[in-house]
Amino acid sequence: MDDILDAALKESKQKAVDEEKSIILDEMRERGKPIEMFAALDGSWGNLWTVDPFGLVGPVVVTVKAFIQTLWTLREESGTIWEWNRELPSSLRDQWINYHSNLPALNELNIHRYVLFPNSVEIELHLFPDASDIGYRTCAYLRSVSGQIKIALLTSKSRIAPLKKQSTPRLELCGALLSAEVYQRITASLQITFSTVFWTDSTTVINWLKATPSTWTTFVANRVSKIQYATQHCSWNNIAGLENPADVISRGCMASDLIYNKLWWKGPECPEWLQQESEHYPVNGQHCGPTDQSNAEQRKTAPISTTATTTFSIIRIGGRLGQSTRHEDFKHPILLPGSHYLSTLLLLSYHQKLLHAAAQLMINTILIRYWLLGGRAVARQIVHKCVICVSARPKLIEQFMSKLPTARVTAARPFSKVGIDFWGPIHVQPRHRRDAPIKTYVAVFVRFTTKVVHLENVANLTSDDWWPAVIYTLTRT
Ligand SMILES: [Zn+2]
Repeated sequence: MDDILDAALKESKQKAVDEEKSIILDEMRERGKPIEMFAALDGSWGNLWTVDPFGLVGPVVVTVKAFIQTLWTLREESGTIWEWNRELPSSLRDQWINYHSNLPALNELNIHRYVLFPNSVEIELHLFPDASDIGYRTCAYLRSVSGQIKIALLTSKSRIAPLKKQSTPRLELCGALLSAEVYQRITASLQITFSTVFWTDSTTVINWLKATPSTWTTFVANRVSKIQYATQHCSWNNIAGLENPADVISRGCMASDLIYNKLWWKGPECPEWLQQESEHYPVNGQHCGPTDQSNAEQRKTAPISTTATTTFSIIRIGGRLGQSTRHEDFKHPILLPGSHYLSTLLLLSYHQKLLHAAAQLMINTILIRYWLLGGRAVARQIVHKCVICVSARPKLIEQFMSKLPTARVTAARPFSKVGIDFWGPIHVQPRHRRDAPIKTYVAVFVRFTTKVVHLENVANLTSDDWWPAVIYTLTRT
């Protein structure tokens, strides 16, 4: 998991960080500053993150995350940024010391490494996203059934809300996305089969997830589409806010309180429906109606695709088949530009429907309904690019060529070795125009070695007419 990789990376960088810390601490000692002011520099919370890659003590960690964010927003009375080497205000300093001194309580924490029953007959993963002004988070529980029911906290993840203020429903949606990401990581990591249920206390989020992403504004649409893709085989349900264990992270928690927090370790406790049969689950999220908050994120202007659909008009071919009894599409096919992507998809579907037909058959079939301008070239291209068609195309048998005869490859006097053929008949106009055209032939003498050609007129295909042509040729050469 990413956290483990992060932890490994942190370890490798630890040496460099330690050196940097010692330089800063030395400088502060020289200036006479109290070291507690920068207690964080002693690495206590850094180590906490390193040893908690699964977020099992998430509520404790999120408290310090929020504390650090407060430090970033700290301003002096004049409005300038609080310098890093200035002592903290007493309230924040006390807060940190209180938190820091409470951390050793975690040493009493015992967590079972094995989260299932050995022979579980039913395993479910339950994820609980949540959000507040501080940030958003999620926690995941594995519920295994083997006669008894066992609930175990598997992992949790939290993110601090950005300093740029977002509405609570939007943060809830970010929590849902974080939940979906955690679900993907769990699915990739665990080698067991389980069903998954998401529980959120935000009906707005459920409404957003039920609609197509293009209904909502860009911020919501982007996240909704990601969640819908990642959790397409899971169900989203609604629970009361107080039953949501992720609420423990939202409120933050001191180490000593977390150890005995039953809601955190065992899931919803009042009522304990997760520890009962699945019929007792509060499945009411499917019936959530649209809320004002969900409608507030509705796209003000219709998306381009919708506009295109509503204003799209179909152009059909005229022709002279108006009185035919055939169906409308046949009489007046729909005109489509061949180069458009839609036409390509259409041809592709016809290609597959016709069991990888050739371009001509595709065009002929598609013409019954559509008139593709320049579609033939696209059809050929589809056949040419189709892997199945290319691999199934039969190989043409080529003529096996024999070796050339000796006479063709041996040097000899011109026309000493020739091939002779006839070409014709051709009709020659006699000197007197009124006379009928004379039928005549041409003897073709081809020299074997250099393919030089000599043409000679022959009056007829008889040997009497042919011999003079031979003699005349030989004497000329
Ligand atoms: Zn094909």
